[in-house]
Order: sequence, then structure tokens, then C-alpha cells
Amino acid sequence: MRERPFFLEEIPQFTLPFVGLAVLGHPISHSISPVLHNAALSDLSLQDSAFKGWSYHRVDIKAENLANALVKFAEAGYLGLNLTIPHKVEVLKSVNRLDSEASLIGAVNTLFLRDGQWFGYNTDGYGLHQALRKDLGVYIPNSRILILGAGGAARAAAVKCLLEGASSVHIHNRSPERLNDLLSLLRNHFERSRISGSTVGNFREFEFVDQDWVVINATSLGLSEEDPSPFCMPCTELGKKSVVYDMIYNPAKTKLLAEADEAGLSFANGLSMLVYQAAKALEIWTDQEVCAKRMLEAAKNYFSG
Ligand code: NDP
Repeated sequence: MRERPFFLEEIPQFTLPFVGLAVLGHPISHSISPVLHNAALSDLSLQDSAFKGWSYHRVDIKAENLANALVKFAEAGYLGLNLTIPHKVEVLKSVNRLDSEASLIGAVNTLFLRDGQWFGYNTDGYGLHQALRKDLGVYIPNSRILILGAGGAARAAAVKCLLEGASSVHIHNRSPERLNDLLSLLRNHFERSRISGSTVGNFREFEFVDQDWVVINATSLGLSEEDPSPFCMPCTELGKKSVVYDMIYNPAKTKLLAEADEAGLSFANGLSMLVYQAAKALEIWTDQEVCAKRMLEAAKNYFSG
């Protein structure tokens, strides 16, 4: 990416037919969202010249500046924003209109300016759902899902899997506090019999040995090449039709995925989730069908080049 991230005071101003889109976070320099969105916008502009003036940027915004920044982005001609660490939950204080899934998840990754107000969505669950289906052939209804982690990404994953009819969703997390917060949220909205949880101290391995599970890593363990696997039992002990999805995509093959590979299980990394959540956000902003394949190609080219 040639363009360095902007700070709030340097964001470009847009007047129609020029339209701004951006991802806000802190830190933000690691984000490849502009690569995906600008590739898809370039394709859209071939079909409809109205999209020629649309562009997507990264902007470094600290948590304490988010509320003020949202006013500035609206004034500067931005129509859509993506949010990443640390804004996904904090933003709830600054938006009063949420779609039902974002409201249930309690986090927002996409904002759309309508009638002068920011409307919040969460497309992470959609991204994961598409990724599981397309990369691993997972059909969520009646599947058993084991989610490692209980942070924002795990919340989106758990809500989406329960909404889509998973027969059980088990959350395994390091800290009992965050685990219990997520279990309470889920039990308030879905049948309790489909929901369970553990920490390392009370993980009942026998419920997983030789059983087929969809294992999803939603922890940040694996972001560093030296990180151990976040899963507290060997993948070789899972049932042979188990599959493993790691939301991390850089590095491309975490320890967890290497273990899944050695155990002969199907596995995939989080690049597809990143792409599908991005495609959905761009569809919300443009009201056009977006080519996720084009975004995926752009991401792969970025990492290989
Ligand atoms: P959060 O900070 O909200 O949650 C982090 C989670 O990781 C918590 O459950 C935390 O457990 C756990 N964790 C952190 N360090 C460790 C450790 N050393 N050992 C065990 N568990 C640990 O982050 P997010 O939910 O936003 O993101 C989680 C991961 O998902 C990140 O790697 C992120 O990059 C990825 N992600 C990928 C997306 C994609 O599109 N592919 C989209 C969103 C996220 P505890 O509660 O104990 O602290």
C-alpha cells in the first residue's frame, strides 16, 4: 500500500461525485482493508461510472477521539466507515441506530451515514459464515461449534452460529470473566441447551475426543509466529470430520492450523472472513453486488508481492 494512514486532521474532504470510505482504528497501519475495497471499487466503476469518485483510506483514531471523529467524517463527505480495535464496542455510545445483528452482538464494525446519522452494522458474523461455507464446506445448521476466545470476534461468531441453527456452541476462553459475560449474553437470547463454556481448569476433553467439531480460533494467540496453539487438546484427538478455522490470516498458517494439517483435518485461515465481511460492508454502502473474489485476489497479491 503506497498511502500511509491519515490522522483525523489530514483526512481529505469529499463533495459529490467524490465519496470517502475509511477504516478507523488504533493501531491501523497493519490493515489491508484499502487493498480489498479499492480493488472492488475499481471493478464497480467499470460497471457504473458513479463509483469512479469513491475511495477508501485508513485513518488512525484513538479511542478517546472516536465520537468527535464521527462528526468530522460526516462533515467531510464520508459515507461509510469500518471500525477495528479499539472501536467496535466503544462506538455503541456514539450511534443510536443499530441493525438487529449488531445489537445482539453488542459490537459494530460498519457504519453507514443515512439522513445525517451513522447507522451501525456488524458484518463479521456474515463474513465468518460465508468463509466456513466456501472454504470448508461447513453447513452451520446442526453443526457443533467450538469457539476459542470470548472477545469481540468470538461474540460475533457465537451469535451468528446460534442464529444460523448450530446444534451446540461451546466457548472456551482463558479468563472466566469474559467467558461468563459472553455466556450470559448468549443465554439471554438463545436456548440454554445449545450453549456451554469452559476455561482450561474445567475443559471436559472427553466431550471432544473422536467427535466432529467445527473449531474456530477467535483469540489473538497465533498473531506472533512464536505463539503456541490456543487449543488445549491435540487436533489428532478430534473426530476425523472436524474442521479448523483460524480467524488470524497473518501469519497464514498458525500453530493451530499446522496441527490441524498434521492431523489430516480440513483447515483455513481468516483471510476469507476478512474478505466476506468487507464485501458485505461495501454492499451496504453501494447497494451493489460486490465481487468478493476480486477482493480475495487483491489480498493474495498483496501478501505474495
Ligand atoms: P479481543 O481483544 O476482543 O479478544 C481477544 C481474545 O483473545 C480474548 O478471548 C482473550 O482472552 C484471548 N487471548 C488473548 N491473548 C491470549 C493468550 N495469550 N492466551 C489465550 N487467550 C488469549 O479481540 P477480537 O475478538 O477483536 O479479535 C480476536 C482475533 O480475531 C484477533 O486475532 C483478530 O485479528 C481476529 N479477527 C479476525 C477477523 C477477520 O476478519 N479475519 C475479524 C475480527 C477479528 P481473555 O478474555 O482471557 O483476555
